[in-house]
Amino acid sequence: MNIILLGYPGSGKGTLAKDLFRALDMVHVSTGDILRDEMGKKTPLGLEASSYMAGGRLVPDSLVMEMLKARLGAETRGLLFDGFPRTVAQAEMLDAWFVSRGQEIDSVVFLNVAEDVVMKRLGSRRTCSGCGKIYNVISNPPAREGVCDACGKPLMTREDDRPEVISKRIQVYKDQTEPLLAYYRASGNFLEADGGQAPETVTRSVLGLLRVKP
Ligand code: AMP
Repeated sequence: MNIILLGYPGSGKGTLAKDLFRALDMVHVSTGDILRDEMGKKTPLGLEASSYMAGGRLVPDSLVMEMLKARLGAETRGLLFDGFPRTVAQAEMLDAWFVSRGQEIDSVVFLNVAEDVVMKRLGSRRTCSGCGKIYNVISNPPAREGVCDACGKPLMTREDDRPEVISKRIQVYKDQTEPLLAYYRASGNFLEADGGQAPETVTRSVLGLLRVKP
């Protein structure tokens, strides 16, 4: 099974993906996480991507696609895409890649959340510097301030979760990613969930939409 998660930055794709990939035994493919990893390791790709990411712009399609092909070429498990594709050109490249592998996309899940809600969520999001677990200082704080419940490492604010970058990312989503809704709606395997609910409720409804027992 191959699944794409779509939605605004802050719509809960990452949180949902962390529940789903375990439940469905899939590979979680977060292009944002992979790019941050490349940046941390100061690879040529990471260095090239860093200025785009810091400013809230998209990394060029060809770079992202080459990075994914290199990482996933030998992968045989189902893929759960979180944050990819982000442009129609990426969606077309992904379609062609799946055709070349004799595979297809089984479901596209859109997490529908209002813009003002994602703006607030991004502003209060904290991410674990160790395991990547996502918190919200208002609605889902850790037990000890600034410390991850799961691995004990410090929580951080992502550089692109600063207020001025958040507005840019929202605009980029509207201009470049939102057209994917029409692209995938036409494909017949488009599912939509209310992403404004609590994380566990979202996971339960998405598993229901995918017809998987939690
Ligand atoms: P995310 O963690 O998904 O919010 O992604 C963080 C940043 O990484 C984005 O704002 C982009 O700069 C970059 N990025 C992640 N995924 C993609 C993608 N599929 N295409 C282009 N840029 C991406």
